[in-house]
Amino acid sequence: MTWLAQSRLINGPFEDPGLFIDLRFGSRAILFDLGDLSTLSAREIARVSDVFVSHRHMDHFVGFDQLLRLRHTRPGTLRLVGPPGFVDGVRARIAGYSWNLLGPRSVDFVLHVAELSKGRLGPWTPLRARDAFRPGPEIASDLPEGVVLSDPDFTIEAVALDHGIPSLAFALQEQLRVNVRAEALAALGLSVGPWLRPAKTAIRAGAPDDLPVDAGGKVVPLGLLRERAFLVAPGQRLAYVTDAAFHAENAERIVSLARGADDLYIEAVFLHEDADLGADRRHLTARQAGELAREAGVHRLVTFHHSPRYLDRPGDLDREAQRAARGE
Ligand SMILES: [Zn+2]
Repeated sequence: MTWLAQSRLINGPFEDPGLFIDLRFGSRAILFDLGDLSTLSAREIARVSDVFVSHRHMDHFVGFDQLLRLRHTRPGTLRLVGPPGFVDGVRARIAGYSWNLLGPRSVDFVLHVAELSKGRLGPWTPLRARDAFRPGPEIASDLPEGVVLSDPDFTIEAVALDHGIPSLAFALQEQLRVNVRAEALAALGLSVGPWLRPAKTAIRAGAPDDLPVDAGGKVVPLGLLRERAFLVAPGQRLAYVTDAAFHAENAERIVSLARGADDLYIEAVFLHEDADLGADRRHLTARQAGELAREAGVHRLVTFHHSPRYLDRPGDLDREAQRAARGE
C-alpha cells in the first residue's frame, strides 16, 4: 500500500519539536510546529504549503524566521494556523525586520494566517510581501468544527489542549481509500474509464447503494460496485500531540484525536519518577504518553520533546513510553 504521507520529526528527541509531513509524490509538504528548521533542506522548506503551530513557546515557533527567510523571495501562498493570539504573534515576528525593499514589484508572496479559537478556524489574515506584510482584508474560512484544512485527499483536524495556555494537537486523516479491482470490473462487463472518479467520490461520501452510476454507457447501482468492484479501506491517520498537562479532559481529547492512528507522535518530557515535575510544568511523562497511546489503540508510537535532564540516559524515556503502550 502506498502511503499518502511520509512523516518524520525534524530534530532529535531532545531538540526542538517539529514534524515534517511529505505528501505523496513529494509535491507538497506540511509542518506541525516550527522549532529549529536547520535540518530541513531548502527544497523541503520550499514544498511546505501549510504550517500548524501548537503554541507560541519559543521551542515551537523559533523556526518561523527560517521559514520566512527562505519563502518570502518565492511567489506563492503559505498558510499558517495557530492558537488564539497567533496572528499578532506572527505580525510581531515580522515587525522585527525592516521591509523597505519590498514594494509593488516584489515577488508575490503572501502569508495567510488564522487562529483556531473555541474549536473553529477563524478568518485568514493575508500578509503580502508587496504590501510590506501589512495585513489585508480578512478572508472568511468556512470549515467544520475541529477541521483546519480540508483537501480532496485528506483533512487536518485540531484540538486545543491545556498547557496553561492552549496548545493545539493535530491529526492528518486521509480520506477513505477506494481501489479498483480490475478483474472484478471486467467480470461485470465494465471497463476502466473517467466514470470511476465520481463513483469513488460517491463511495467516499457514503452515498446509498441504489444510487445509479453511469459506468461508461452502462448504468449500474453504486452498491454493486461497492460490493464487487472496489476495495474500500480506511485512510492513513497520523496524530501529533505536544505540551499538554496530564488530566482527564486533556487525556480524553488526546485519546479521541489519536484513536486508531497509524502513527502517534507524542511528547514524553519526564520520566514517571518525576511525575511531580510533569504536573508542575504541565507536560506528559513518558508513561502517561504510552498509556494514552495504548488507550487510543495506535499502531506506532514515536516520542519526542525529552527534557535535557535525561541526556545521560537518552533511551529511558522512549523505553518507558513503549512499555506503557504495550501495557507492561
Ligand atoms: Zn514545548
